[in-house]
This record gives sequence, structure tokens and C-alpha cells, in this order.
Amino acid sequence: MPEEKPTPLPCLLGLKPEEVTEAVAALGEPAFRARQIVEWVFKKRAVSIEAMSSLSKNLRQALAERFVTRSMTLSQVTGSADTTRKLLLKLQDGRYVETVLIPANPALYGGRSDRLTLCVSSQVGCAYDCKFCASGLAGFTRNLTAAEIVEQVVQAEAMAADRVDNLVFMGMGEPLANFSNLTRAIEILNADWGIGIGARHMTVSTSGLAPQIRRLADFPLQIRLAISLHGASDEVRERIMPVNQKHNIAELFEALQYWRSKRKQRITLEYILIEGVNDMLEQARLLARRARAIDARVNLIPYNTVEGLPWVRPAEEQCIAFRDVLEAGGVTATLRLEKGHDISAACGQLRLKQETAEGIVESPIPARRITIGAGASA
Ligand code: SAH
Repeated sequence: MPEEKPTPLPCLLGLKPEEVTEAVAALGEPAFRARQIVEWVFKKRAVSIEAMSSLSKNLRQALAERFVTRSMTLSQVTGSADTTRKLLLKLQDGRYVETVLIPANPALYGGRSDRLTLCVSSQVGCAYDCKFCASGLAGFTRNLTAAEIVEQVVQAEAMAADRVDNLVFMGMGEPLANFSNLTRAIEILNADWGIGIGARHMTVSTSGLAPQIRRLADFPLQIRLAISLHGASDEVRERIMPVNQKHNIAELFEALQYWRSKRKQRITLEYILIEGVNDMLEQARLLARRARAIDARVNLIPYNTVEGLPWVRPAEEQCIAFRDVLEAGGVTATLRLEKGHDISAACGQLRLKQETAEGIVESPIPARRITIGAGASA
């Protein structure tokens, strides 16, 4: 018989006030206790229920039997030369996720840290198997809970002793494949009673799950949307993103038109440049047409090397030429200067980790995945 693991207690960082009210009512306590608890959790950032000193000992004890205030521990911080820092967080079930803290202008660091962006993960591993990305190499393990998404911000703010002003859901995983936990986390992160980050300062990035993009367009908060496009024609995109076989570019752009009809903010199209795969200028011309059609701007990212994958970053002149075609086509395009490349914290470099006798190591990549990646480049 396999050993039964006790189910972990729910974490208060994933609860909304009405749910806390319900929980304290079940304990025979008045509603104002719930308001106090919510304040301890999100404003005072109590690290334990014991620390909620305005509550009676009895109530604290009853709460501690039912809830926790943290569901992960910070097990490693890797600093980078450009002051980007990667936090490795250990979850209650022994899995790991990474979250990346990025100062907007490292040159300002030491003075006022003007804008702090956090790149959060939404899943342990990823099921979408994009051929250039490290996050899906060892497959999909599980969705993160809403509390685990929120707690990445809480942990990062505690570590940095600073507030995060900007959130990008661009860490490990496909956020829209974890829709209900994602939207619950966004509500908590945005709420005045919660973490208090403005919706316009949150960006959800997706590999292109068209039906969920429509669903998210109906979500009331004015969050931003980024699309990992990486190919301007189905032929090119399909080769590196299997998700395109399920939702092709036409279907994706119909969903994006729907999004446009619901929001004022422009959509960002993310486009990694990979040599000989999608960096041809004819792709740039097609990309310009597509971007214009939905009034999107384009973010060009020279490919970040992933060990074990065959792809190559194009020469700088090719990246610039690609951008120039977009600009000539009337599209706002940025050639993104990557941060965190030296600590494997850059886009696409977050990789599944596991604990062994030797310490924390990268999860092994099943051989078939490497073959597919290499085959696609041939
Ligand atoms: N699954 C979501 C969220 C992850 S965002 C999505 O696909 O949008 C991570 C971003 O990094 C995506 O735009 C992804 O395509 C990009 N990326 C993946 N591998 C990369 C690499 N090796 N170099 C640069 N960007 C990469």
C-alpha cells in the first residue's frame, strides 16, 4: 500500500474575504474577525497564524488547525550581474517553481528602485512542448494553486524588502491552461484588501489558447495580454509550437480581435528570433501585416540558448534588419535586451527542478523530447 500523504492545509493567501468570513463564522466568530485576519495576511504579511496577535489564543489555535499562512519556502536566490534575481521556491509537495525579479532599470539600482517587475510561474512544468523552451522539457507536473501564484509575489517582496509594481505571467507554465487559479490569483493580487497591484500592471502571456483568450477577455479586470507568436505563418509556427495545430493563426487572431473589442490596451506579440527558422525578412513582412490588423506592438527577443536544444540566436544585424522591416511597416517594435541570461532566468530558460541526494538538480529530459527538437531543426 502506498503511504497516504496528509492533504496540505489551505493557505490563507488564496482566500477571498468572503471565504474567510465563512470560515470564521463556522468557528462561531463575528465577521470583524475575518477583516482582521485578511489584514494580517495581506497588509501586515503575518508569516504565521501565531503572529496574529490581535486574535484570541483560541481563535488562533482553531485557525492553525485549518489553515497555513505560507505554502512554500525560499530555498535559493541566484543573483545576476544585471541585478535580476531568480528565486527557487519549494512547494509543500516537494516540487519547485522559479520566480524572477527584474528591476526595470538596473542603472538606477541603489538609488530608487523605480520599477520592480516579477515574472511569475503558473504551473510546475508545462504541457505545451514548444520546441525552443526549457520549461516544458521534462513535461507537465501540475497546476499551481491560486495561493501559490500569489505567494510568489509575497516571497519576492519579502526577499527584496520592496514592493513589486509590475507582474508578468511569463514564468514556467501556460497560465491560460490554469484558468480558474490564474484568475482567482489575479483578483487577489489586484484587490485593495489584497496585494494591491494595478490590473494595468499585470500581463498574462499565452502560447495562444484561443478559447481561453476569449474567456479572459470577458474577465472584468483590465489586465494586459501578450501572445507568444514566434511565427507569422502557420507553416513556420507549427514547426516550433505544436499548439498551433490545435489553434492556428487565423483562429488565434479572431480571438485577439475579440480581445481588442473589449479592451483599450494594445496587445503585445512576442516573437523570439531563431536563426534560419523564423528570422527571414518575409516573416517580418507578414508579421507586420498581422500586427497592424489588430493594432498590436511587437517585442522581438533574440533566442536564449537552452542546453540540449539545437536552436541558435541570429546575428545582431539580422535581428535589427527584422525590426526595421516591422517599423517600416508601421508597427511599433522593440528588440528586447534580455535580462538574467547568465543565471538561466531569461525567457524560456526556467527549467523543472527536483531534489536528489546531490542537492537540487534539473529534472532529466525524456529522450524523445530532445529528438523532436533536433528533428524539427533539420
Ligand atoms: N506559456 C506562456 C507563458 C510563458 S512566457 C507563453 O508561452 O506565453 C515565456 C516566454 O518566453 C514566451 O514568450 C516564450 O515563448 C519565451 N521563450 C521560450 N523559450 C525561449 C528562449 N529559449 N528564448 C527566448 N524566449 C523564449
